[in-house]
Amino acid sequence: MSEAAAKPTLAVWKFSSCDGCQLSILDLEEELLDIVGAVEIAYFPEMTRAVVKGPYDVSLVEGSVTTPEEAERIAEIRENSKILITLGACAVAGGIQALRNFDGADAHAWVPTVYAHPEYISTLSTSTAISDHIDIQGSVQGCPPNKYHLLELIGSLVWGRTPNLPTHSQCLDCKVKGNVCVLVAHGTPCLGPVTRAGCGSVCPSYHRGCYGCHGPAETPNMDALTTRWRSLGVAEDDIVRGRRMFYAWDPGFVGPGEEHHKQPAAETTRGQGSI
Ligand code: SF4
Ligand code: SF4
Repeated sequence: MSEAAAKPTLAVWKFSSCDGCQLSILDLEEELLDIVGAVEIAYFPEMTRAVVKGPYDVSLVEGSVTTPEEAERIAEIRENSKILITLGACAVAGGIQALRNFDGADAHAWVPTVYAHPEYISTLSTSTAISDHIDIQGSVQGCPPNKYHLLELIGSLVWGRTPNLPTHSQCLDCKVKGNVCVLVAHGTPCLGPVTRAGCGSVCPSYHRGCYGCHGPAETPNMDALTTRWRSLGVAEDDIVRGRRMFYAWDPGFVGPGEEHHKQPAAETTRGQGSI
């Protein structure tokens, strides 16, 4: 905690992302007053223009590292933060923008196609997780995270305890909810067996397969699930597309035979330079 302040200081930072994780904090609405009563919002541009200078007791980071500037900025934030937690698929695993990391993808080639003035674009060839660049103290999964998981995180930091967040797979929650399994009963491809619980099993509750937006459970077995999907007759291309979504670059969602896609963290940005 900050020696000068009675309340711990909280900073919320944005990197390459859609802002959804920050909006999940703001979506707490009724609980926000309790939060600002317990912590000092020191830096959170999406909530307030007021800025308190660091160092900060806690930094929450949304987004992945996709530019040389971001690679430098996250190191500065690390220096200025006692505790640093990553929020969401982009910060935890590189996000859907990490599709650029796979073999055959070429971010350099896309830039002139996407931007009218590519000369203004300075980007790395990869999108990488915050933990590929600095040490972190923890993370909250989800695209976006469940807002009550964020509340649990902030509360646990205030009270100095470990946050109680789910690590098990969707299937357990699905059974508790009494859902009919779409994979077993209907032959619908579902990523639930490898995906972290926490959304309330929304998709199977509406008779569709989970597509993994909460990221991998603690012990995902993608090899076994791939074998199961093959037994349903799912085409190989569709199996690959199925797992290359929000957590495409997460080791938990790398499929059989794809291990070579995951390079050592430092190599994913070092030497890549900018374009
Ligand atoms: S529907 Fe999906 S998440 Fe639910 S039990 Fe079946 S495989 Fe698991
Ligand atoms: S995709 Fe999976 S994790 Fe995401 S909301 Fe649907 S069931 Fe939940």
